[in-house]
Amino acid sequence: AARAAAASSSSPLEALTKVWGYDAFRGEQAEIIETVTRGDDALVLMPTGGGKSLCYQIPALVREGTGVVISPLIALMHDQVDALEQLGVRAAFLNSTQTVEERREVEQRLLAGEIDLLYLAPERLPVATGLLDRARIALFAIDEAHCVSQWGHDFRPDYLGLTLLHERWPDVPRIALTATATAQTREEIVRNLRLEGARVFVSSFDRPNIQYRIAPKQEARKQLLRLIKDEHDGEAGIVYCLSRASVEKTAEWLAAQGVTALPYHAGLPAQVRSRNQARFLREDGVVMVATIAFGMGIDKPDVRFVAHLDLPKSIEGYYQETGRAGRDGLPSTAWLAYGLQDVVQQRRMIEDGEGDATRKRAQSLHLEAMLALCETVQCRRQQLLRYFGEESGPCGNCDTCLNPPQSYDGTVAAQKLMSTIVRLERERGQRYGAGHLVDILLGKETERVVKLGHTSLSTFGLGSELGEAEWRGVVRQLLAQGLLEVRGEYGVLGVTPAAADVLRGERQVLLRREPERVRSSRGPRVK
Ligand code: ADP
Ligand code: ZN
Repeated sequence: AARAAAASSSSPLEALTKVWGYDAFRGEQAEIIETVTRGDDALVLMPTGGGKSLCYQIPALVREGTGVVISPLIALMHDQVDALEQLGVRAAFLNSTQTVEERREVEQRLLAGEIDLLYLAPERLPVATGLLDRARIALFAIDEAHCVSQWGHDFRPDYLGLTLLHERWPDVPRIALTATATAQTREEIVRNLRLEGARVFVSSFDRPNIQYRIAPKQEARKQLLRLIKDEHDGEAGIVYCLSRASVEKTAEWLAAQGVTALPYHAGLPAQVRSRNQARFLREDGVVMVATIAFGMGIDKPDVRFVAHLDLPKSIEGYYQETGRAGRDGLPSTAWLAYGLQDVVQQRRMIEDGEGDATRKRAQSLHLEAMLALCETVQCRRQQLLRYFGEESGPCGNCDTCLNPPQSYDGTVAAQKLMSTIVRLERERGQRYGAGHLVDILLGKETERVVKLGHTSLSTFGLGSELGEAEWRGVVRQLLAQGLLEVRGEYGVLGVTPAAADVLRGERQVLLRREPERVRSSRGPRVK
């Protein structure tokens, strides 16, 4: 019966109710679907969880022929197709993981008009053009369209080849979809995919039920455990770590503390990964500890928290990852712990990474925007939304709104730190990391300080008005404000040209005082 329903859908609403069993369209879905069904192009910017899939799946069912979905998420195609088939939709995929025979079978079904939705990896498009020429195509959907942006955080060269769609099949409507909405990405999508004539749909990126919190990293795992035990005991969550090793260690450690925690990263055997993923999806209260390899396309409505134990590389990535919390609209937490070491590590990864100078410059700017979010004294949500081009007022449901940080005039502290750096570099040709510099300012006679003769510096012991944690906060914020920079492999610090004004006393530096632990609030603002 389901199969019949899918095949015979004559209107979008009928497909929505009969195939998916939903009562009504959400947000702009109806208009988007109408646009594409009519045969016009569309560009859809919608946050994760907003309901992008239906925007191309329903027009594909209603229009004659096969909807071809270009997606970079090869690992998910199998699951996506399975899920559609369970609804009675005839779906298939073509990617490099298949055998020749498997591909041939899909091709035959396509040509026989027996496929409603065909998922295609972008690198297969050049070899599939002849095939698509012979098939009847209802539409092209370009999922994760931000991958075409060279300036973005997730560039895939194969996506540039997608201009072919427009050139070769000018009459087939195209719908490009992404959860990344900066003005720059949007312009690049339009330009690189030749979507000048497309109607653009921008949904609000606000996720009011998610409480954003960013804490200075002290003992990250213990901080995380407190978050789980105090606020999310027995609830499902995702914990993101940067490295595979820390994924495994963190999962083990949490398990030893009585949390049902499982690891997930690309280095684990495929069976382990799919078993862990299945448990996360099916069981209640599983905490998945993962690298960012986990989560794309995962649709679990009741993820109550997303925690980051390491600094994400960009706001786009952070927003996408935290967006996996609270898809059901209920109160959820996005929690991030970050410290100086994160900045050092990320800088090093950018320097050592692949890519030309332009790419590295883009990566640095992404990192700086992320740092600015971490160190802001303003509402986190306001700053996040502004990043995506949306103006809003303070939200009342983030750590800075709930527990406003005090700001203070940190000009003198900044001068002490920066002049220590400048002296050591100019007079002795030496550069140091934050730990040693803070020791000097606090007047600590450590072995290293004594051996290097740094007790004789004029700033030795001059910074006792602040504690060690506060000084580390000063360093982080000066980095975020672009007054300090991390140089080289060992995280040594240098001053930037902008620091000169501060040292001359011509520019004031406002700093954020580290707040006390944020009192937990599970009541989000009600709209
Ligand atoms: P996105 O791709 O934008 O991250 P999805 O397309 O995966 O979001 O949709 C997120 C969830 O919302 C899915 O579980 C989907 O079935 C559900 N959903 C989408 N549209 C509707 C609707 N109109 N009514 C009810 N649920 C919907
Ligand atoms: Zn706020």
